[in-house]
Amino acid sequence: MVVNNRYNRHILLRTIGKQGQERLTKSRVVIIGCGALGTTIANNLVRSGVGFVRIVDRDIVELSNLQRQMLFDEDDIGIPKPIAAARKLEKINSDIIIEPIVDDVNYRNIENIIKTMDVVIDGTDNMLIRFLINDACMKHAIPWVYGGAIETYGMTMNIIPPKTPCFRCLIPDIPGIGELPTCDTVGVLTTIPNIIGSLQSTEVLKILLRKKEVNKNLITYDVWNHSFESIEIKKNPYCECCGKHHYEFLKGKLKEDVVSLCEKGAIQISPVKKTVVSFDELEKKLRNVGEVENRKIILRCKIQNYELNIFQNGRAIIMGTNDKKIAKSLYAKYIGF
Ligand SMILES: [Zn+2]
Repeated sequence: MVVNNRYNRHILLRTIGKQGQERLTKSRVVIIGCGALGTTIANNLVRSGVGFVRIVDRDIVELSNLQRQMLFDEDDIGIPKPIAAARKLEKINSDIIIEPIVDDVNYRNIENIIKTMDVVIDGTDNMLIRFLINDACMKHAIPWVYGGAIETYGMTMNIIPPKTPCFRCLIPDIPGIGELPTCDTVGVLTTIPNIIGSLQSTEVLKILLRKKEVNKNLITYDVWNHSFESIEIKKNPYCECCGKHHYEFLKGKLKEDVVSLCEKGAIQISPVKKTVVSFDELEKKLRNVGEVENRKIILRCKIQNYELNIFQNGRAIIMGTNDKKIAKSLYAKYIGF
């Protein structure tokens, strides 16, 4: 055995060995979302020697990302996340292929993004994208690994079509606007995305190696209270996705509407699900991030150079940008998902 092989410690492992390592080298994965989870996962899988790693994200690196997004440093601020991540990862492992894609993931492009992959990994903090990943992966019978982290807790689950329940068996419908907290409004501890991302990475390796130890349950972990749970999720025979194969998100039947309003820089976003937004709740959350004005029929929030005007049915007009990707990102961060 060659002691100086890059993957020597994997080859020594009973659970991987030389054959397993060779299999990893021939594997292809895509990480959707390159934030705290995504950078942890990319770092782990690139070091592990997964042969092809595609990384997709629409955002650029900001100073507030450095607290937890482990591949970035101060020189990366202002650079698209997949590009900054790829630059770092290429220095870590030049024997594999890393493909950065700077794009918004939507129902039009997701099939091309995932089609030739062995595993798809969720590194987003966006519910709509998770439902899209679920539809696309069920349709193309590709395993995907769900993960989420916020405050001091997180969760992960493997979705392996057609064996396991799917994401819509766990969460049947997209939550209403403002129903879920976001890391940008309630915060996230440095360590929890690292832990959840590492759990996800381990499951990806097991799936690629076709191991029987692949986890079947939903795992939740709160690192602050040290509570770990493994919950069995049942397949729903009436599930819109894995039961009825309706793929509503992939077909674009359930999607956000994003429209440029004028040349001056305003984008209107209408959410997937019409809801009554609780302005009091949203106002409380947004006070942590910007200057808020609650006018009862409209909630206005100024964050950096942008102005978010939110209506009670979840529609928002975002001023200060002509870029739909930036507007969608601001909406996801501060209003919903
Ligand atoms: Zn299902």
